[in-house]
Amino acid sequence: MKSIGFTYNGTKITLLKGDITKQDTEVIVNAANSSLMGGGGVDGAIHRAGGPEILKECKEIRKNQGKCPTGEAVITSGGNLKAKYVIHTVGPIWRGGNNKEPQLLSNAYKNSLKLAHENNIKTIAFPSISTGAYGYPIEKASIVALNAVKEVLNKITFEEVRFILYSGEDFEVYKDKIEKVFS
Ligand code: ADP
Repeated sequence: MKSIGFTYNGTKITLLKGDITKQDTEVIVNAANSSLMGGGGVDGAIHRAGGPEILKECKEIRKNQGKCPTGEAVITSGGNLKAKYVIHTVGPIWRGGNNKEPQLLSNAYKNSLKLAHENNIKTIAFPSISTGAYGYPIEKASIVALNAVKEVLNKITFEEVRFILYSGEDFEVYKDKIEKVFS
């Protein structure tokens, strides 16, 4: 079974190979782009599975707030998903690593958790943000993601934070890093 679970500072951490659209956490996080108008990869999968309500709410946010800057996050309902909400965050495009990519990726995770907390959400599932079309090497991105979450969990307790890896290879990378970051 491709899963790992342990508790860190009162929060259950789960690492799972799977599909984020199928998760039963209260919120799932979408690796969106700043247009908030949908896209490929996990973004496309979430909009397909959740139905048109999610895009409708994204369009409303666009109208009121404009584009979502890299590292920021917004929240919509989950439409037809099991998850009640979707947090849409924008990770950085990998441009070699010297263009604030680590800070921006870290912000995407931290701002997602902050927004979840503000909405009284206790269970959240993350995909591997920026490591698909945006090209962030997963060996590097996983360390940034795990450290960002750990930092927040030192201050805020959730019931569960779940990391969902779509491929077995990505799962193995996370498995290796999670032991190092959370030990
Ligand atoms: P980005 O543009 O931020 O790189 P992508 O959607 O291209 O976002 O990829 C981010 C990660 O999401 C990749 O590791 C990809 O394998 C993964 N992914 C794609 N579909 C799903 C899914 N249904 N559930 C979980 N992860 C997914």
